[in-house]
Amino acid sequence: MQTGAADALAVVHEHILVCTDCPLHLKRIQAVPGTGPAGARIMAVGEGPGETEDRVGRPFVGAAGNVLTTLLESIGLRRDDIYITNVVKCRPPGNRDPEPAEMEACSHFLDAQIEIIRPDVILILGRHALARLLPGAGGISGLHGRKVVRGDRLYVPLYHPAAALYQGSLMRTLEDDMLKVRGYLDEAEARRRQPVQAAPPVAHAQPDVTTSHSPAPPSAFPGHAEPLLSLVAPEPGEPVPRLGPPDPIEPPTPPEPPSRDQLSLF
Ligand code: SF4
Repeated sequence: MQTGAADALAVVHEHILVCTDCPLHLKRIQAVPGTGPAGARIMAVGEGPGETEDRVGRPFVGAAGNVLTTLLESIGLRRDDIYITNVVKCRPPGNRDPEPAEMEACSHFLDAQIEIIRPDVILILGRHALARLLPGAGGISGLHGRKVVRGDRLYVPLYHPAAALYQGSLMRTLEDDMLKVRGYLDEAEARRRQPVQAAPPVAHAQPDVTTSHSPAPPSAFPGHAEPLLSLVAPEPGEPVPRLGPPDPIEPPTPPEPPSRDQLSLF
Protein backbone atom coordinates (compact mmCIF):
# COMPACT_ATOMS: atom_id res chain seq x y z
CA MET A 1 0.00 0.00 0.00
CA GLN A 2 2.87 2.29 0.91
CA THR A 3 4.64 1.58 -2.34
CA GLY A 4 2.12 3.71 -4.20
CA ALA A 5 2.37 6.51 -1.65
CA ALA A 6 6.16 6.32 -1.63
CA ASP A 7 6.22 6.51 -5.42
CA ALA A 8 3.84 9.46 -5.43
CA LEU A 9 5.92 11.22 -2.80
CA ALA A 10 9.08 10.58 -4.80
CA VAL A 11 7.46 12.20 -7.83
CA VAL A 12 6.59 15.28 -5.77
CA HIS A 13 10.17 15.44 -4.53
CA GLU A 14 11.48 15.23 -8.08
CA HIS A 15 9.30 18.16 -9.12
CA ILE A 16 10.44 20.20 -6.14
CA LEU A 17 14.10 19.59 -6.91
CA VAL A 18 13.79 21.15 -10.36
CA CYS A 19 11.13 23.74 -9.56
CA THR A 20 11.66 27.31 -10.72
CA ASP A 21 8.19 28.60 -9.95
CA CYS A 22 9.28 31.41 -7.65
CA PRO A 23 12.38 33.58 -7.27
CA LEU A 24 13.67 31.49 -4.36
CA HIS A 25 15.16 29.06 -6.85
CA LEU A 26 17.63 31.70 -8.01
CA LYS A 27 19.85 31.66 -4.94
CA ARG A 28 19.32 28.21 -3.54
CA ILE A 29 22.04 25.60 -3.52
CA GLN A 30 19.35 22.98 -3.69
CA ALA A 31 15.69 22.60 -2.90
CA VAL A 32 14.77 20.74 0.29
CA PRO A 33 11.66 18.65 -0.40
CA GLY A 34 11.37 16.86 2.94
CA THR A 35 12.41 13.63 4.61
CA GLY A 36 10.62 10.71 6.16
CA PRO A 37 8.45 7.76 5.27
CA ALA A 38 5.35 8.09 3.11
CA GLY A 39 3.50 6.10 5.76
CA ALA A 40 4.38 8.49 8.60
CA ARG A 41 1.56 9.01 11.11
CA ILE A 42 2.99 12.36 12.12
CA MET A 43 4.24 15.20 9.96
CA ALA A 44 6.15 18.30 11.02
CA VAL A 45 6.07 21.49 8.97
CA GLY A 46 8.44 24.40 9.49
CA GLU A 47 8.76 27.65 7.63
CA GLY A 48 11.64 27.13 5.19
CA PRO A 49 15.17 25.78 4.85
CA GLY A 50 18.01 27.64 6.51
CA GLU A 51 21.63 27.85 5.48
CA THR A 52 22.59 24.36 6.64
CA GLU A 53 19.48 22.78 5.18
CA ASP A 54 20.17 24.49 1.86
CA ARG A 55 23.64 22.99 1.85
CA VAL A 56 22.72 19.52 3.10
CA GLY A 57 19.37 19.13 1.36
CA ARG A 58 17.54 17.95 4.46
CA PRO A 59 15.11 19.86 6.68
CA PHE A 60 15.73 20.62 10.34
CA VAL A 61 19.39 19.79 10.64
CA GLY A 62 21.70 21.61 13.02
CA ALA A 63 20.84 22.89 16.47
CA ALA A 64 17.11 23.35 15.94
CA GLY A 65 16.93 19.93 14.33
CA ASN A 66 18.60 18.43 17.38
CA VAL A 67 15.94 20.03 19.59
CA LEU A 68 13.23 18.57 17.38
CA THR A 69 14.84 15.14 17.53
CA THR A 70 15.07 15.34 21.33
CA LEU A 71 11.42 16.35 21.60
CA LEU A 72 10.30 13.50 19.37
CA GLU A 73 12.36 11.00 21.33
CA SER A 74 10.85 12.31 24.58
CA ILE A 75 7.53 10.77 23.53
CA GLY A 76 8.97 7.60 22.12
CA LEU A 77 9.23 8.62 18.47
CA ARG A 78 12.24 8.35 16.25
CA ARG A 79 13.01 11.14 13.87
CA ASP A 80 13.00 8.61 11.05
CA ASP A 81 9.36 7.84 11.84
CA ILE A 82 8.33 11.42 11.09
CA TYR A 83 7.89 13.17 7.78
CA ILE A 84 9.50 16.60 8.07
CA THR A 85 9.19 19.42 5.58
CA ASN A 86 8.68 23.18 5.28
CA VAL A 87 6.13 25.58 3.87
CA VAL A 88 8.64 26.71 1.22
CA LYS A 89 11.18 24.26 -0.09
CA CYS A 90 13.95 26.69 -1.03
CA ARG A 91 15.93 28.89 1.33
CA PRO A 92 14.90 32.54 1.43
CA PRO A 93 18.08 34.61 0.98
CA GLY A 94 19.55 35.70 4.28
CA ASN A 95 16.98 33.53 6.05
CA ARG A 96 14.35 36.23 5.63
CA ASP A 97 10.69 35.34 5.91
CA PRO A 98 9.22 33.94 2.70
CA GLU A 99 7.12 36.39 0.72
CA PRO A 100 3.40 35.62 0.47
CA ALA A 101 3.74 35.08 -3.28
CA GLU A 102 6.56 32.60 -2.68
CA MET A 103 4.51 30.67 -0.17
CA GLU A 104 1.56 30.68 -2.52
CA ALA A 105 3.68 29.41 -5.40
CA CYS A 106 5.04 26.59 -3.25
CA SER A 107 1.90 25.63 -1.35
CA HIS A 108 0.71 23.01 -3.83
CA PHE A 109 3.76 20.92 -3.00
CA LEU A 110 2.92 20.89 0.70
CA ASP A 111 -0.72 20.18 -0.11
CA ALA A 112 0.36 17.21 -2.21
CA GLN A 113 2.65 15.91 0.51
CA ILE A 114 -0.14 16.06 3.08
CA GLU A 115 -2.60 14.47 0.70
CA ILE A 116 -0.24 11.57 -0.04
CA ILE A 117 0.90 10.93 3.53
CA ARG A 118 -2.43 11.67 5.24
CA PRO A 119 -0.82 11.82 8.69
CA ASP A 120 -2.80 11.52 11.89
CA VAL A 121 -1.24 14.68 13.25
CA ILE A 122 0.45 17.62 11.55
CA LEU A 123 2.82 19.55 13.82
CA ILE A 124 3.06 23.20 12.85
CA LEU A 125 6.46 24.47 13.93
CA GLY A 126 6.43 28.17 14.68
CA ARG A 127 4.20 31.13 14.07
CA HIS A 128 5.12 31.64 10.44
CA ALA A 129 4.06 28.12 9.47
CA LEU A 130 0.97 28.57 11.64
CA ALA A 131 -0.05 31.70 9.78
CA ARG A 132 0.37 29.86 6.49
CA LEU A 133 -1.37 26.61 7.39
CA LEU A 134 -4.12 27.91 9.67
CA PRO A 135 -4.78 31.51 8.69
CA GLY A 136 -7.15 33.16 11.12
CA ALA A 137 -6.93 30.38 13.72
CA GLY A 138 -5.07 32.54 16.23
CA GLY A 139 -1.58 33.13 17.51
CA ILE A 140 0.98 30.56 18.56
CA SER A 141 0.86 31.67 22.21
CA GLY A 142 -2.81 30.71 22.44
CA LEU A 143 -2.76 27.61 20.25
CA HIS A 144 0.50 25.85 21.07
CA GLY A 145 -0.08 22.27 22.16
CA ARG A 146 -3.75 22.31 21.22
CA LYS A 147 -5.59 20.34 18.58
CA VAL A 148 -6.96 22.34 15.67
CA VAL A 149 -9.19 20.47 13.25
CA ARG A 150 -9.66 21.80 9.75
CA GLY A 151 -11.56 19.60 7.36
CA ASP A 152 -10.24 16.10 7.95
CA ARG A 153 -6.85 17.31 9.16
CA LEU A 154 -5.66 17.51 12.75
CA TYR A 155 -3.01 20.13 13.42
CA VAL A 156 -1.04 20.87 16.56
CA PRO A 157 0.81 24.21 16.58
CA LEU A 158 4.05 24.23 18.54
CA TYR A 159 6.69 26.84 19.23
CA HIS A 160 9.53 26.56 16.77
CA PRO A 161 12.30 24.32 18.16
CA ALA A 162 14.80 27.13 17.58
CA ALA A 163 12.84 29.22 20.08
CA ALA A 164 14.02 26.93 22.87
CA LEU A 165 17.62 27.69 21.93
CA TYR A 166 17.14 31.34 22.73
CA GLN A 167 14.52 31.20 25.46
CA GLY A 168 15.21 28.26 27.71
CA SER A 169 11.83 28.35 29.43
CA LEU A 170 10.17 27.42 26.14
CA MET A 171 11.86 24.02 26.22
CA ARG A 172 9.63 23.01 29.12
CA THR A 173 6.61 24.30 27.21
CA LEU A 174 7.64 22.29 24.17
CA GLU A 175 8.14 19.18 26.28
CA ASP A 176 4.69 19.58 27.84
CA ASP A 177 3.13 20.12 24.43
CA MET A 178 4.84 17.03 23.06
CA LEU A 179 3.23 14.97 25.82
CA LYS A 180 -0.11 16.21 24.53
CA VAL A 181 0.92 15.21 21.02
CA ARG A 182 1.59 11.71 22.34
CA GLY A 183 -1.96 11.66 23.65
CA TYR A 184 -3.39 12.85 20.32
CA LEU A 185 -1.48 10.12 18.50
CA ASP A 186 -2.77 7.50 20.91
CA GLU A 187 -6.32 8.75 20.35
CA ALA A 188 -5.85 8.54 16.59
CA GLU A 189 -4.45 5.04 16.90
CA ALA A 190 -7.43 3.98 18.99
CA ARG A 191 -9.82 5.43 16.42
CA ARG A 192 -8.06 3.57 13.63
CA ARG A 193 -8.53 0.30 15.49
CA GLN A 194 -12.24 0.82 15.92
CA PRO A 195 -14.37 -1.20 13.49
CA VAL A 196 -15.82 0.88 10.70
CA GLN A 197 -19.51 1.61 11.33
CA ALA A 198 -21.85 0.79 8.48
CA ALA A 199 -23.60 3.90 7.17
CA PRO A 200 -27.35 4.01 7.95
CA PRO A 201 -29.80 3.73 5.05
CA VAL A 202 -30.33 7.09 3.39
CA ALA A 203 -34.06 7.11 4.21
CA HIS A 204 -33.28 7.02 7.95
CA ALA A 205 -30.25 9.32 7.94
CA GLN A 206 -30.25 12.08 10.56
CA PRO A 207 -29.04 15.63 9.85
CA ASP A 208 -25.28 15.95 10.22
CA VAL A 209 -24.02 19.25 11.54
CA THR A 210 -20.71 18.89 9.74
CA THR A 211 -22.29 18.27 6.36
CA SER A 212 -25.25 20.65 6.53
CA HIS A 213 -23.15 23.60 5.39
CA SER A 214 -23.26 24.75 1.82
CA PRO A 215 -20.77 22.90 -0.35
CA ALA A 216 -17.24 24.22 0.07
CA PRO A 217 -15.89 26.29 -2.83
CA PRO A 218 -13.47 24.58 -5.19
CA SER A 219 -9.98 24.25 -3.80
CA ALA A 220 -7.34 26.57 -5.14
CA PHE A 221 -5.04 23.60 -5.13
CA PRO A 222 -6.14 20.37 -6.80
CA GLY A 223 -6.41 17.48 -4.42
CA HIS A 224 -6.52 19.66 -1.29
CA ALA A 225 -9.66 19.60 0.81
CA GLU A 226 -10.94 23.03 1.81
CA PRO A 227 -11.71 23.49 5.49
CA LEU A 228 -15.29 22.52 6.36
CA LEU A 229 -15.13 23.64 9.95
CA SER A 230 -12.73 25.06 12.45
CA LEU A 231 -12.60 23.41 15.82
CA VAL A 232 -10.06 24.06 18.51
CA ALA A 233 -10.17 21.22 20.96
CA PRO A 234 -10.75 22.35 24.54
CA GLU A 235 -8.38 21.98 27.38
CA PRO A 236 -9.76 19.89 30.25
CA GLY A 237 -12.50 21.83 32.02
CA GLU A 238 -13.20 24.15 29.12
CA PRO A 239 -16.61 24.34 27.45
CA VAL A 240 -17.46 22.04 24.57
CA PRO A 241 -16.12 23.64 21.39
CA ARG A 242 -18.53 25.07 18.89
CA LEU A 243 -18.90 23.88 15.36
CA GLY A 244 -18.96 26.41 12.59
CA PRO A 245 -17.08 27.89 9.69
CA PRO A 246 -13.47 29.00 10.07
CA ASP A 247 -12.95 32.01 12.29
CA PRO A 248 -12.57 35.33 10.50
CA ILE A 249 -9.07 36.55 9.89
CA GLU A 250 -7.98 38.24 13.07
CA PRO A 251 -5.61 41.20 13.32
CA PRO A 252 -1.93 40.35 13.33
CA THR A 253 -0.83 38.85 16.60
CA PRO A 254 1.92 40.56 18.58
CA PRO A 255 5.40 39.26 17.92
CA GLU A 256 6.30 35.98 19.56
CA PRO A 257 9.70 35.08 20.85
CA PRO A 258 12.16 34.47 19.38
CA SER A 259 12.89 37.19 16.85
CA ARG A 260 12.98 36.50 13.13
CA ASP A 261 16.73 36.47 13.24
CA GLN A 262 16.61 33.81 15.89
CA LEU A 263 14.13 31.68 14.01
CA SER A 264 16.08 32.05 10.86
CA LEU A 265 18.78 29.90 12.30
CA PHE A 266 16.86 26.65 12.11
S1 SF4 B 1 10.28 27.69 -3.00
FE1 SF4 B 1 8.85 26.21 -3.86
S2 SF4 B 1 7.86 27.30 -5.59
FE2 SF4 B 1 9.74 28.43 -5.07
S3 SF4 B 1 11.30 27.57 -6.45
FE3 SF4 B 1 11.42 26.44 -4.49
S4 SF4 B 1 10.13 24.63 -4.81
FE4 SF4 B 1 9.57 26.12 -6.42
